[in-house]
Amino acid sequence: MEPIRTCVGCRQRDSMKHLLKIVSMDQSFVLDQQRKLAGRGAWVHEQCLQLALDRKGLVRALGDSNSESLETWLRNQAQNMADTQ
Ligand SMILES: [Zn+2]
Repeated sequence: MEPIRTCVGCRQRDSMKHLLKIVSMDQSFVLDQQRKLAGRGAWVHEQCLQLALDRKGLVRALGDSNSESLETWLRNQAQNMADTQ
């Protein structure tokens, strides 16, 4: 059995390997590509990043009251991912 996590965007459960892990760390956020970082994390499909922001699911999951910085960070991440594809 593969580990299952819930996407904070669409709320669907899925295998960890289909989800990105975002970890809140030192007032910032890290995209945990190895999925090995400790700390408070949120799982989200790459295509659900915007949805997760809109629904505040990420903010809730990461416990960050500064949603603006999270949004900025995420936009950059999404942009980076789009650039590399
Ligand atoms: Zn999703």
